[in-house]
Amino acid sequence: LSAVVGISAALFALYMSGPTFSVESLKGARILVTGASTGIGEQIAYHLAKTGAQIVITARRGNVLEQVVEKCLALGAQKAMYIPADMSVASDPEKVVRFAVEQLGGLDYLILNHIGPSPFAFWDGDVEHTRWLMQVNFLSYVQMAWKAIPTLEGSKGSIIVVSSMLGRMCSPFVGPYSATKFALNGFFGTMQHELAMKKSNVTVSICTLGLIDTDSAMEKVRGYTNMTAYPASDAALQIIKAGVTRQSEIFYPWFTYYLLNVKDWFPYLSDTVIRGFYSYEAQ
Ligand code: NDP
Repeated sequence: LSAVVGISAALFALYMSGPTFSVESLKGARILVTGASTGIGEQIAYHLAKTGAQIVITARRGNVLEQVVEKCLALGAQKAMYIPADMSVASDPEKVVRFAVEQLGGLDYLILNHIGPSPFAFWDGDVEHTRWLMQVNFLSYVQMAWKAIPTLEGSKGSIIVVSSMLGRMCSPFVGPYSATKFALNGFFGTMQHELAMKKSNVTVSICTLGLIDTDSAMEKVRGYTNMTAYPASDAALQIIKAGVTRQSEIFYPWFTYYLLNVKDWFPYLSDTVIRGFYSYEAQ
């Protein structure tokens, strides 16, 4: 019996680890990473740098990006450049893609990861913030993807979209954020079908993340929940792996996949459990 259990566990681990990931394949690859001044995006930039990739990073704060670029070059990036941009400005997403294509002479991967700050609180009726967040977290992704597709077509490239469990299931305190992530999953899920139907060279990978230990996420949930947060560096590596191995969807940490399934099978139970995760003052 123990042999059967052992073999089953090994097969399960192999299945969850997905296709083999070769770091060497990224040497010299031309990659644009958004939201790379902090958090998961910054970790993505450092992993890529170590592989000898050519990177353009973007976010709003040029002074912070400059430091990340310096570290990327020290870690071994073949090229590392930055362009400050605000994704709430309608013309900035396309400007960033244009810059990356010009500077790198093309593009192999577009990693869409940035998010604008949003409160972790009961919905207070701020429609203007929701509209703004839709531009930053959703529409700018659509604009950048559309602008990059012709170049990615030529290089057999990939678009990697960083999404969240909150784009697949609803939870309190995150209405506008969750709406932008549901929008991403809907839009890029459609794009996966259409690119496949057109026999395009371009693939789209959607990454569904659980709670990750970035400063901004920890600051938000502090006092609300004791849920375990997983390391940003590991999350970053799984995101890169999803693109390199051209998987349509990945889940990190691995059990998020099962949580989402359980939620669909037992909706009443899971709603009760979700509310039970949080401590709050009834209003
Ligand atoms: P952070 O808040 O740490 O980083 C956000 C990045 O976006 C920063 O580089 C920030 O830089 C940039 N940014 C913010 N506003 C704008 C703007 N208007 N225009 C351009 N860039 C902007 O986020 P995380 O690292 O925690 O999250 C990264 C991704 O992972 C997101 O897509 C998030 O939804 C997803 N995710 C994270 C989880 C977590 O628990 N951390 C859980 C599930 C998903 P700057 O301020 O310089 O502009």
